[in-house]
Amino acid sequence: MKVDSLNTLLEQELRDIYDAEKRLVKAIPKMAKAASSEELKNALEEHLEVTKGQVQRLEQVFELFGLPAKAKTCAGMKGLLEEGEEVMDMDGSPELLDAAIIGAAQRVEHYEMAAYGTVRTMAEKMGNDQAAQLLQETLDEEKEADETLTRVAEQVMANMNMEEGMSSGSGSSSRSKSKPRTRTSRA
Ligand code: FE
Ligand code: ZN
Ligand code: FE
Repeated sequence: MKVDSLNTLLEQELRDIYDAEKRLVKAIPKMAKAASSEELKNALEEHLEVTKGQVQRLEQVFELFGLPAKAKTCAGMKGLLEEGEEVMDMDGSPELLDAAIIGAAQRVEHYEMAAYGTVRTMAEKMGNDQAAQLLQETLDEEKEADETLTRVAEQVMANMNMEEGMSSGSGSSSRSKSKPRTRTSRA
């Protein structure tokens, strides 16, 4: 397609993110359902509500630019969510699956952070401070979600049993590193 102005480019970017967020509204509940840790389920469910607000915020941004709110397939998010599906099909301990789900979810957050930083800067350049501010708010929410996921990853991994060749993840409270490693079984 021909992009002849920053305005046209921004419109394309917004359509892409709009599609990405709408895909997420459908995908996050599946990830929350696949998660075992309560903290992870809560973090995902909370971000689902935040994401619904982000969809509405994008509609406001379209309006501020006098553009129709239209979505155009975001190949990047589609791919990230395909990886998320792969992760949810994995066979392993709850802790390992949770860690894998977090890995997929954090990839999504980073992708969104990149996209929102880009459109925020474009909106600034176009002198639309109100739109820039709305996009910055979403960017901040994505950063917060990413930080929450890092904290949850630490909790989930604290429950992994490192003495059994990492195979069972049974939540043993013993975390001594001085014991010899045994590799009784492998996943
Ligand atoms: Fe988002
Ligand atoms: Zn995209
Ligand atoms: Fe997000």
